[in-house]
Amino acid sequence: MNVLLIGGGGREHALAWKLAQSPLLDTLYCAPGNAGIAEVAACVDLEVDDHTAVAAFCRDKAIGLVIVGPEAPLVAGLTDDLEAQGIRVFGPSKAAAALEGSKGFTKDLCADFNIPTAAYGRFSEAPPAKAHVESQGLPIVVKADGLAAGKGVIIATSHFEAHSAIDACFSGAFGEAGAEVVVEEHLTGEEASFFALTDGETVLPLATAQDHKRAYDRDTGPNTGGMGAYSPAPVMTDALCARVMDEIILPTVAAMKARGMPFKGVLYAGLMIQDGAPKLIEYNVRFGDPEAQALMLRLKSDLLPALLAVAEGRLGGLSLDWHDEAALCVVMAAKGYPDSYKKGTEIKGLDAAGADPEVEIFHAGTTREGDRILATGGRVLGVTARGPDIGQAKDRAYAAVDKIAWPGGFCRRDIGWRAVGRKD
Ligand code: ATP
Repeated sequence: MNVLLIGGGGREHALAWKLAQSPLLDTLYCAPGNAGIAEVAACVDLEVDDHTAVAAFCRDKAIGLVIVGPEAPLVAGLTDDLEAQGIRVFGPSKAAAALEGSKGFTKDLCADFNIPTAAYGRFSEAPPAKAHVESQGLPIVVKADGLAAGKGVIIATSHFEAHSAIDACFSGAFGEAGAEVVVEEHLTGEEASFFALTDGETVLPLATAQDHKRAYDRDTGPNTGGMGAYSPAPVMTDALCARVMDEIILPTVAAMKARGMPFKGVLYAGLMIQDGAPKLIEYNVRFGDPEAQALMLRLKSDLLPALLAVAEGRLGGLSLDWHDEAALCVVMAAKGYPDSYKKGTEIKGLDAAGADPEVEIFHAGTTREGDRILATGGRVLGVTARGPDIGQAKDRAYAAVDKIAWPGGFCRRDIGWRAVGRKD
């Protein structure tokens, strides 16, 4: 089967690396891909916003499955437009992608179906949002309703700061994403991520993970797309995973079906574990980046039949095998990220770093120029290792990081600290 993968980040390299091992695969295409993906797929220059062009490419190349990596094409309705042309897609419809595309939509769904989440208010104008803030304790969380690449969430420690965040949302700085504001109770506890595949009816839990959003060690510095992740998340015991399925994931899948917008794809729940109980912080409608890098290294089974079963609505009866070992991904980013950074700096030592069979170096913002690999993005590499436990996976990942010669880059040195330092 020929497959088209949409995206060009570390998540897509991890998916491409895994898909390339499938005996079912003939040719893997990736749009746009990157220098690492080019090792396992044919990278193509496709305008992904132009759904007609994507459909034409799929017909031309006899694509049996399109796998959508990032959220933006899903929220823009790529799945709907391709499926209307008879093309199979892994990824939810535009309506179902509202689980990530509209925080207000998800909060209302949680309220209607009794899914545990932070108390909230939803506002389309500043004055009532500010009045609501005044009636609440601190800190308080202010969120732009739509996709804002992680920049639309402010945890305000004063009413003044909350009011400024509300004004910022309605100022147009977030475009359409700021047309509404969600004001939310601040939750405390430990954050974890839970991933499940669903064809709209059947749910297959995948694995858990924890990420590191802040740029610098000890969770300091600005928020980023993610500086590292590991799987599994030790906080997510079997009992807690069962609760997440019963109280959050299964009711959500049933609710989406009841609403006439069945969710097909990977459901990624961002959770807060407070006093042993899970609450939903947010949904994402695609694999996490860099969580996918860790997940793919742990997955033993072939990924392609599972994604195909989701797209075809026949997930029932399917199961997946996982390595018992843990996996950990350290993201290397260009110096200056997430603010401005230099492009075009050279990275050396990748072959030596990837020589350990338990290590994979997933590329994100890279390009090849002759035999040189250059950094072209903010997040550039995801150095990912497997090990008997998270501590040993961490040691292996950092041993590989230390073989990479990239003066233009940096990484956190403490990925996995919470799991490694855990006492229970
Ligand atoms: P991203 O897509 O980058 O993960 P986002 O813009 O979709 O982020 P959320 O995931 O809803 O936004 O929030 C981002 C982060 O803010 C969360 O990972 C969490 O750390 C924090 N956060 C969000 N809501 C709350 C809350 N109610 N209480 C405490 N922390 C919160």
